[in-house]
Amino acid sequence: MRKPVIAGNWKMFKTVGEAHDFWNTASSATIDASKVDAVICAPFLQLPALVEAAKGSSIHIGAQNMHQEKEGAFTGEISGDMLKDLGVTHVVIGHSERRQYFNETDETVNLKTKAALDLGLTPIVCVGESLEQREAGETESVVSKQVAEAFEGLTESEVEKTVVAYEPIWAIGTGKTATADDANQVCQAIRETILDLHGEEAASATRILYGGSVKPANIKELLGKDDIDGALVGGASLEADSFLQLVEAAQ
Ligand code: PEP
Repeated sequence: MRKPVIAGNWKMFKTVGEAHDFWNTASSATIDASKVDAVICAPFLQLPALVEAAKGSSIHIGAQNMHQEKEGAFTGEISGDMLKDLGVTHVVIGHSERRQYFNETDETVNLKTKAALDLGLTPIVCVGESLEQREAGETESVVSKQVAEAFEGLTESEVEKTVVAYEPIWAIGTGKTATADDANQVCQAIRETILDLHGEEAASATRILYGGSVKPANIKELLGKDDIDGALVGGASLEADSFLQLVEAAQ
């Protein structure tokens, strides 16, 4: 039985004050941590305040990226060690916006995933196809290759600790959602890739999320599918009320 994950991705939104406003509403929610992992992945600057506010609550705090090296001359970067030291527990790796605008590759995704796991951080590894790739019938091959390369060299138990987020690029922030059946089919293909490369236990334990215009109106149908174990959510995670409705639907 895989515990669902509802992970909010705030992207480059919210000041510290706005994060506090979110928290004022979110902190009063009753979340059953035995039934759902609720995570907010915030901009780096908001992390110290959120980690502090989240102490004793059932919401985990995550980052949206990290550098693969422990430290060094990498101006403007943040290491996993720095996140760990702060009390952050999750980190999004290889979001399509980072692949598209910041030269993230399957190789850096692999290095970052390994570095996060070494530190005990839970990586949320994003994969997904472009509209052109979908229209060319390449969705499953593209996504399977991304998963295989992200997980290259990982042990079975490391794979199990990783969360995969399947996010078709054409569905992110566009209001277009893959149908629940289409999303499930790709999540199933991801699970089969994990099965082929890392074995039965890793395949059945790894949580695979769907992301792309998820909102309270469509979460139930997505969660009803066998291979969808939760959601990575952008826009609908910015308001505490809608984020909590998504968490509620998963528990
Ligand atoms: C995302 O940011 O990963 C995402 C899926 O965004 P949205 O939910 O807004 O499509």
